[in-house]
Amino acid sequence: MQPKQEFKPLCEYIAALPVFSDHEHHLSDEFFTHPVTLDVLINSSCVRWTGFGCDGSVEARRALLANVRYNSYFVWFQKGVQQLHGIEEPICLDNWGAVSAKIAHRYATDPQFHWRSLKEAGYERMILDTYWDPGGDDGHPDLFVPTFRIDKFMYGFHGESVAPDDFAVWARYGFEGGSMDEFVENMRGIIRERFEQGKVAAFKCAEAYNRHINFQPDDKDAAEAAFGLSPKTISHEQFIAFGNYIFNRCCELAAELDVPFQVHTGLGQLAGSAPMNLEATIARHPKTRFVLFHAGFPWTHQVAGLAHNYRNVLPSLTWTATTCTSAAVRALHDFIDVGTSINEITWGSDCWVAEESVGAMLAWRFVVGKVLTERIADGLISPRQGEDLARKLMYENGRYVYRC
Ligand SMILES: [Zn+2]
Repeated sequence: MQPKQEFKPLCEYIAALPVFSDHEHHLSDEFFTHPVTLDVLINSSCVRWTGFGCDGSVEARRALLANVRYNSYFVWFQKGVQQLHGIEEPICLDNWGAVSAKIAHRYATDPQFHWRSLKEAGYERMILDTYWDPGGDDGHPDLFVPTFRIDKFMYGFHGESVAPDDFAVWARYGFEGGSMDEFVENMRGIIRERFEQGKVAAFKCAEAYNRHINFQPDDKDAAEAAFGLSPKTISHEQFIAFGNYIFNRCCELAAELDVPFQVHTGLGQLAGSAPMNLEATIARHPKTRFVLFHAGFPWTHQVAGLAHNYRNVLPSLTWTATTCTSAAVRALHDFIDVGTSINEITWGSDCWVAEESVGAMLAWRFVVGKVLTERIADGLISPRQGEDLARKLMYENGRYVYRC
């Protein structure tokens, strides 16, 4: 969309601002030592959520374009590819090979392209969630700042328990057995140590992919009864009781270390991921700052309601601008209207590869530009205030919330 002429300067202003991302999964340098083609990039992007991907065949590409070329994920992914690789035309079957060859050549001749291109495109800082190696920074600490994925500990009820991503909890964290209290102490020690090394800017929990997010108050007896049970025999209820106990300890630790706690709400498993499921937890831990990810999409109004009522709720539109651009516009309006601090609304691209992150940055600039332009046109804010808000939304709030 071309902005209306009278507001074009605001969009130009936004386009020149640096960008802070509160959430990413960028892949390690090692991944990019293998051939990187357009097919590889698509398979490493959120376009995969549509159910369409690439297997190298023309049929797969044809089906993908025929079905999802106007889907929000694809539209912004494509814009990122176009911007990073200087491609004028949208991707089609005819130019697929040429686009892919251009991408492959770029990666083959520039081993640092995947992370340097993010900086060159305007990213100043990205909070990184390497869920396969919690607390990692991909070896690029000047760009990536780790969030610590605490989910794995919620699977630590037994030495043979393996968390998602093939993560053997006890072995990876050097826990050799003992009581549940000792397991919790070990967890606290590991996180504290990383925190003191400057490697924990936030906690992150994405268990919305695996369970309901209505983390209940402690039932220590039930959690202790679950601790030590083999993954083969533990019941779902026992697994949940143990997970609740660990999650509550992490809420306390986040408050103690004064780091934001990023929680995936919305999508994931649709059943049980609506943000209101988290209300009791938010009320129970008033000193923990909960960053509610993904604006709770599709229930963005629930995050708005929680942000209205709870001072410790920080709404984040991470991923939302590319999941559903129109919902991100509505949600940002709502969060500005009801938030108890204009300094705590953040955004991130939530991507694995640079092309998609750059496209997502364009999406976020579009959303911010559209929302602020509408607010100026409606007489709610002045053009100067629009610029102030733009700086907050593009980078100042990220620096403030994550202190980096
Ligand atoms: Zn994510």
